[in-house]
Amino acid sequence: MSIRTYQHWINGQNSEPAGGIRFETRNPADQREAVCSYAAGTAAEAKQAISSAQTAFPAWAAQTAVARGRVLSKASQLLETRKAEFAELLTREEGKTLVESTGEVQRAVDIFRFFGGLSYTLGGQTIPHDLPGNLLFTRREALGVVALITPWNFPIAIPVWKLAPALVCGNSVVLKPASQAPALSLEIAKLLGEAGLPKGVMNVVTGDGRSVGGELASNPAVVALSFTGSHKIGLGVHQQLAQRMARSQMEMGGKNPTIVLADADLDLAATLVFKAGFGLTGQACTATSRVVVERSVVEAFTERLLAKTRALKVGPGLQPGVDMGPAVSPGELEGNFTHIQSALREGAVLLHGGKRITEGGLEHGLFMEPTVLGGVKPSMKIAQEEVFGPVVAVMTAGDFDEAITIANGVDVGLSASLVTRDLKKAMLYAERIQAGVVKVNQISTGLALQAPFGGVKKSSTDSFKEQGAGAVEFYSKLKTVYLDYSA
Ligand code: NAP
Repeated sequence: MSIRTYQHWINGQNSEPAGGIRFETRNPADQREAVCSYAAGTAAEAKQAISSAQTAFPAWAAQTAVARGRVLSKASQLLETRKAEFAELLTREEGKTLVESTGEVQRAVDIFRFFGGLSYTLGGQTIPHDLPGNLLFTRREALGVVALITPWNFPIAIPVWKLAPALVCGNSVVLKPASQAPALSLEIAKLLGEAGLPKGVMNVVTGDGRSVGGELASNPAVVALSFTGSHKIGLGVHQQLAQRMARSQMEMGGKNPTIVLADADLDLAATLVFKAGFGLTGQACTATSRVVVERSVVEAFTERLLAKTRALKVGPGLQPGVDMGPAVSPGELEGNFTHIQSALREGAVLLHGGKRITEGGLEHGLFMEPTVLGGVKPSMKIAQEEVFGPVVAVMTAGDFDEAITIANGVDVGLSASLVTRDLKKAMLYAERIQAGVVKVNQISTGLALQAPFGGVKKSSTDSFKEQGAGAVEFYSKLKTVYLDYSA
C-alpha cells in the first residue's frame, strides 16, 4: 500500500510546516508498513490556525443555525459515500477490525446528520415575565474559537462528536488529533470544505501534544477547549484553562465494572463481558476491565467466559473473520504486559492469555492474547488502574451490596454494567452506582449518539455532557434579554 501524505489544514487549505519536519504512522497489524506521513506541527502552526479561526469566526457565527446545519447534513451525505475507504484507512492506522471501523465511520455519518437536523431547534427560550408588557427571553450565541484535542482510539467518532455541535453553534475550530491516528481528522476537514464550510472555520494541526496542544490550552484567543484522553494529560490541560478562566470539558479514562449477580443469565453475562472486554481490543474508555461476580456463581460464569475467550480469533483487522485486532502501538502493548505482570506479582491468577502472539504470520504486528485474570482483589493495581487493552480482571463479592461497594471503590466513574433478572436490584444499582453511563443487561461499551455522555469522579470534569442535544450547552452561551414594551 502506498503511504498517504498530509499537511496541516489551515484556512481551508493544506499548509506545510515551516521546518519541513514530518512523522509517520505505522500499521499496528504490520509495523513494516508506513500508513501516513504528517506535518510535525509546533506552537507556531497552532498560532497560525488560531488566527485563521479568529478571522473566520464572525461571518460563520452570523449565519443562521439552519444554514450551518445544512453544511453538516451535506457532510453526512458526502461521508456516507466514502465509508468503505475511510473504514479501511482507520483499520490500517489504528488497528481495529474492519467491522468496528465501519461502525465508527457510520457513527460519524449519523452524528453529522443529527446535528444538521438539530439546527432547526437551536435557540433560546421565552420565560414568562412577572409584569405585563414585558418580554423575557434568552439568546443562544457562539463562543468564538474553540479547540478540540482528541485521542487515537476513536479517530473519527470523537473528533466528529465534538466538531458537529461546535460548528452548528457557530464557533470556529482548531482540532489537534492524537499523533497515533490523525488521518481521518484531516479527511473530515477537507470533506467539510466540500460540504460548504467557509475557509478558516475548521483547522487541523498535527504534531506533538505538548507543543501543539500546549499552545491551544494557553492561547488567550481560545475561549473553550474540549479534551478527550488520559487523566494525566487532561489534568494538566484543565489547570491551564482554569488559570485563564477558559471554558473546559475534559473526558478521561475509566475502570469500568460489570457486576454479575447470582440470578443472572450466565451465558448472557459471559457474552456481555467478552464483548465489552475484548471488543475494540479493549481500547475503549468504556471497556469492561473489572467483572465483579457473586461468589456462588463465579466458577460457572468464569467457565463460560473462558470458553468464549479461547475461541476468539486474533489477527489483522482487515482480514475477514477476525474478532480482535492488535494494540495500537508498541508502547500500549508493553503497557498491557506491565499491568499483567504487576497483577501476577500481587497474587492474581492467569486464567487465559497474557502473552504476545508472534506465530501464524502475526510476527510483525502488535498482537496479544485476550487475557483473563482471576482471584483479583479490590486493592490490587489491576483493579484500580486503567489498562486500556484486552485484559479482564475477575473479582468476587459476597452479595449485591458488596458488589456495589467494590464497583464504586475506584477514583473514576465512566461506565458500569449489571447483569441480573432482579428489577429491584437493577433500580437500586442505577441509584447507587458511581458512573456517568449505567447499563443493565447490556455491554458497558456502546453509546446512543442522541443521549448525554460523560463520566463522574476523575473520569471527567463533569461540567458539561458530550453528545445528544445537550452537547450544545458546552459550545454556546446564553444571554438573557429583558424587553419592556409597556410604555
Ligand atoms: P492522551 O495521551 O492523554 O492524549 C490525548 C490527546 O492529548 C492527544 O491528542 C495528545 O497528543 C494530546 N496531548 C498530549 N500531551 C498534551 C499536552 N501536554 N497538552 C495538550 N495536549 C496533549 O490519551 P490517548 O492515549 O490518546 O487516549 C487514551 C485515553 O483516552 C484513555 O485514558 C481513555 O480512557 C481516554 N478516552 C476517554 C474517552 C471518554 O470519552 N471519556 C474516550 C476515549 C478515550 P499526542 O497524541 O500528540 O500525544
